[in-house]
Amino acid sequence: MARGNPAASPVRRRPPAAAKAAELARADEIFARLAAANPEPKSELEYVNPFTLLVAVVLSAQATDAGVNKATRALFAVADTPAKMAALGEAELAERIKTIGLFRTKAKNVVALSKLLVSAHAGEVPTDREALEALPGVGRKTANVVLNVAFGEPTLAVDTHVFRVANRIPLAEGKTPRQVEDGLLKIIPARFMRHAHHWLILHGRYVCRARAPACARCVIADLCRYKDKTV
Ligand code: SF4
Repeated sequence: MARGNPAASPVRRRPPAAAKAAELARADEIFARLAAANPEPKSELEYVNPFTLLVAVVLSAQATDAGVNKATRALFAVADTPAKMAALGEAELAERIKTIGLFRTKAKNVVALSKLLVSAHAGEVPTDREALEALPGVGRKTANVVLNVAFGEPTLAVDTHVFRVANRIPLAEGKTPRQVEDGLLKIIPARFMRHAHHWLILHGRYVCRARAPACARCVIADLCRYKDKTV
């Protein structure tokens, strides 16, 4: 007996354009709620100018913001410019940041990038990605943070929190930070790009935590499709 062709049966699926529009509307609603809950999100790293922001972000790799702030408060009081940081030297800087993981490598990079800022950029932090990523110890994530926080560019740094949250909700799925970054840039509405990075980081740090997401107090729980969410 001939079986019916499943391909011929009516399938209730949204056409691609409608599905895409629905996803964009969902992303818009997610960011509208995160924005309503925290209209002006700020970096939890302490800094006093673009240079100290750059240094703080370099120091924050595999370290907590609180741990970095503890060391940088006294450091930035004596070295808040590339020239002053270069003059401190590697040994003195390493001593001042020794509570931060990988401090020797970080001290070496920070002194080297400070010297390069003095010699090639008149002591200023460059405002373009290429020049930023050419600095020792500065990768795409650090450049994205500096471009976004110091210069207001609509860039999005994907750290461990953003990576987890974007894959969970999901907003942009990917196996690498770059895949997630590219996916997020496509789906986040332009009006939310300026602060999207902070909203996602803070959401991941305090609500959508790695081990025990606080779904019961999550403002986007009804929009989240994470299979293990607890509401
Ligand atoms: S509902 Fe739970 S898993 Fe989903 S975003 Fe909120 S905290 Fe994260």
